[in-house]
Amino acid sequence: MSMTKYFDIALNLVFPPICSSCKETLPFDSREALCPVCRSHYESEKKFLCPECSFTHKDCTCMPPSVKRHAATAIHLAEYLKEDSVVRDMVLLAKNERNAYLYRFMAKELANLLSSRVDLEGVLVTFVPRSAVKEAKFGVDQAKEASRRMAKMLGCEFQALFYHRKSKEQKHLSVFERAANAKNTYGILKKNSHLIRGRRVVLYDDVMTSGATASVCASLLKRAGASEVIVLTFAKTYTSQKPKGASLPRKKQIYKVKKSWFW
Ligand SMILES: [Zn+2]
Ligand SMILES: [Zn+2]
Repeated sequence: MSMTKYFDIALNLVFPPICSSCKETLPFDSREALCPVCRSHYESEKKFLCPECSFTHKDCTCMPPSVKRHAATAIHLAEYLKEDSVVRDMVLLAKNERNAYLYRFMAKELANLLSSRVDLEGVLVTFVPRSAVKEAKFGVDQAKEASRRMAKMLGCEFQALFYHRKSKEQKHLSVFERAANAKNTYGILKKNSHLIRGRRVVLYDDVMTSGATASVCASLLKRAGASEVIVLTFAKTYTSQKPKGASLPRKKQIYKVKKSWFW
């Protein structure tokens, strides 16, 4: 047993591990991010089809025109659904509390996806940073946590390349306002700008919504001399909220069935 495993289990005894989606307590020796039920839902969600190209999300090559202008590829794992989604629960929990098991799980999933789609030779991994205010409030930058672990798993170089200026929150803005706001929000860190020239850069963010942030950050990387930008996100939103593909039994119903075992 590795030292990390001993450490994890010791920590679990003090803070019992919980499922990142249904919040059920997991066995004390668990090092998983999800309970078996949520894990199987997650696997089903990954099999949904992209509403635009009808490929599974891991094979989808769709990207908003604004992102296409600056990025060679945009890769994501699953659709970001509004309800009954394990993917959504994971993305939200990752933002709201530091959870090493969850970041490790997301990193492993992202590493598998990225290595299946992209030649990783000489790739530099970076991320879209959270605002300093949010990072202080929640004590974590979720995109940094997941992408740093992913880069380590893949043996790729990892660097923070952006700063995040104080600005309005993207989620409260319209699509048009988002583009202008993103332009005012991000910039390249001067001290690391020399690392970008001639490099293929993987830019990670947890969710792609309008693509405004990815587009602005990718264009900044290209302007700083990146030879290629690969946008990687855990999830992507679509205007249509009805996923194509296998229908998923509603999670809440399953949870009720499980509860009834005890009553
Ligand atoms: Zn669960
Ligand atoms: Zn697609």
